[in-house]
Amino acid sequence: MTMHFLLICLAIGAPIRSQVLPPIGPFEAEMARPAAATEPDDADEGDEADDGESELAEPTGAAGPDIRYSADLSDDELQRRWTDDLESLGSISVGFADQGRLINAARMPQDDAWILERPTLAYGTREAVEALINAFRAVRKQFPESAPARLSHIGNEDGGYLRPHHSHQSGRDADIGFFYRNDKVPGRGVRREKLMDPARNWALVKTLITQSDVQVILVDRGIQNILRAWALAKGEDRDFVDRVFARGHHALVQHARHHKDHFHVRFYAPRSQELGRRVQPLLAQRPEQKLVMHKVRGGQTLGHIARTYDTTVKAIQIANHMRGSFLHLGQQLRVPLRKPCTHCPLPPPVVVPPRCLPASTVASASAETGVSE
Ligand SMILES: [Zn+2]
Repeated sequence: MTMHFLLICLAIGAPIRSQVLPPIGPFEAEMARPAAATEPDDADEGDEADDGESELAEPTGAAGPDIRYSADLSDDELQRRWTDDLESLGSISVGFADQGRLINAARMPQDDAWILERPTLAYGTREAVEALINAFRAVRKQFPESAPARLSHIGNEDGGYLRPHHSHQSGRDADIGFFYRNDKVPGRGVRREKLMDPARNWALVKTLITQSDVQVILVDRGIQNILRAWALAKGEDRDFVDRVFARGHHALVQHARHHKDHFHVRFYAPRSQELGRRVQPLLAQRPEQKLVMHKVRGGQTLGHIARTYDTTVKAIQIANHMRGSFLHLGQQLRVPLRKPCTHCPLPPPVVVPPRCLPASTVASASAETGVSE
């Protein structure tokens, strides 16, 4: 089963026009995208094709029997709770990170160990929220004097498109600002390699990777190189460090443009994802869930899209507050459903690989000499 992991969370290649945008986050990358209306039609599509980082795969048809993470729920029980007790199912991640949404979101709480830069965008799957809490607390425990971690966007309460990102749609992505030496957050445009604090940033990355189910962390290679060198100098198991920073399309830590001041972490959130896959055929049974997110591709018209999902052009226009029928590539449409969705984008069954763990979790103290800070 091929699964194209990850994508850059941001539009790329567009000129920086931050002066026309209100600041929406602490990260430069978050501001690098011009308003959608001024964007060349194929900007999104082209960038994703270039990097091959979209998570979106071809629909795989009806949900199969590959149930691993929600096996406690029989199909009958799922059906019953879907209609009578939706809340009891917990968070449900529907679709893909770049074409999805979220049901029963968990909200990141407030805490001394972190700052929610955007509390209204702090909604994710339960697994993602728990992993973030655990990682931030672990860093705080190791570095009690540290300034709080800075969490920027996870997603909307209902997931779906979140400007300016390509992903952050299904409750599995989070943007986390770097820790900086002396806790001084540099101004915009300043190179971060020498200013970020490798000790705490490595502690954060290591905790996320070893204690939760991380699908990928996107961060600039220059930052990776520093973290890697630092981890080795601290005596971390070389084989472990090599695996963490392995190159390649399915690597755990991946280079992505516009990720020079934050980590973009994507979690598997296996139970939430699997439930998202299992409830696809049930979506049309609940009035407020009778919709699917559709990303417009080349050559598609409202008519095509309406036929695909067995709905009407009018219904799509109303759901998206559209007056005309103009579409642009990459546009996210809410498509109301009338019947069970047979053409919904359906991810393959989620299978979480074994965690990347060091052979020994005890760092060699003798290797601490020679650390340059
Ligand atoms: Zn992001």
